[in-house]
Amino acid sequence: MKRYDCVIIGGGPAGMTAALYLLRAGARIAWVEKLSPGGQTLLTETIDNYPGHPKGIQGYELADLFASHLEGYEFDRYMDEVRVFEPEPGKHRVRVGEDWLEATTVIVATGSEYRHLGLPREEELTGRGVSYCALCDGNFYRDKVVAVVGGGNSALEESLYLAKIVKKLYLIHRRKEFRGMMCYQDKCFAAPKISMMLESTVDEILGENEVTGLRVRNVRTNESQDIAVDGLFVFVGFKPQATFLPDALRTDEAGYIITDTEMHTNIEGVYAAGDARSKLCRQVVTAVGDGATAAHAASVYLDKL
Ligand SMILES: Cc1cc2nc3c(=O)[nH]c(=O)nc-3n(C[C@H](O)[C@H](O)[C@H](O)COP(=O)(O)OP(=O)(O)OC[C@H]3O[C@@H](n4cnc5c(N)ncnc54)[C@H](O)[C@@H]3O)c2cc1C
Repeated sequence: MKRYDCVIIGGGPAGMTAALYLLRAGARIAWVEKLSPGGQTLLTETIDNYPGHPKGIQGYELADLFASHLEGYEFDRYMDEVRVFEPEPGKHRVRVGEDWLEATTVIVATGSEYRHLGLPREEELTGRGVSYCALCDGNFYRDKVVAVVGGGNSALEESLYLAKIVKKLYLIHRRKEFRGMMCYQDKCFAAPKISMMLESTVDEILGENEVTGLRVRNVRTNESQDIAVDGLFVFVGFKPQATFLPDALRTDEAGYIITDTEMHTNIEGVYAAGDARSKLCRQVVTAVGDGATAAHAASVYLDKL
């Protein structure tokens, strides 16, 4: 079993920042990422609120810049999923694939992922018309008809992105008003290709082997209608990526990890950073701040030992 000062789980902005700060402090670290370094920034077309980039920056470009900042440092990188985390102060154990890693500290920076609608055939048709990522799949729907479900910033932002590609887009939201920022709302209402279906909900995804339509119900009148669409994009909020977390780790009702302002969790030597923790503002700028704080708190703890 390999032993480290710290195992960082997650390679998004929070995890990569935590790695940078610990490496600069001289810690021996392992960094585990199940997909590609960058996390949700890879799902984002343009990030235009990250300080220092007044003209905005492409999500993948920012991810590359974060990753390149780690070049030149020596550390163990695992491109695999953490499936088990057994906490024990002084010797926390994390299972990656078939390997077990032991560490004095662990930083959980596993972010969040899109919630699903929970419709019967949603899982089966994912990749066959149902999508959770406009940037990844939008191009498959060039000049076709799609529907977007959701009412927050992501739904509005992604609708504006998709409207540049598709022939027509239905924006379906179960309430009368959107939750997303007014600047996005204004743009969506003004976009000629976007057709609003407010106070409406999707009851059924239609189509045998791929999506061909949706059964949409108006929640006020209870009347249903079928609309023909080639794709359904779902943006109805997020949930933490937390399936491997031990029961002993305190989380809020939604499953986000509870920390203090220095990112300590309720377990000695275990920290959480970024979207995975319970907090108000889930953005790149707050994720990197959390990553730096968690790494510093872990360094202080390691120094004391
Ligand atoms: C469409 C969209 C648009 C956005 N737009 C903006 C914006 O304009 N400005 C802004 O500031 N923010 C934006 N955000 C939010 C921002 O991207 C996130 O707040 C930020 O990426 C959170 O960073 P993180 O490191 O905490 O988590 P994430 O970016 O979610 O990274 C977590 C990483 O952990 C990995 N992981 C998860 N579980 C495991 C496991 N068990 N084992 C190994 N690895 C694991 C994941 O693969 C992922 O790479 C947007 C998000 C989305 C989805």
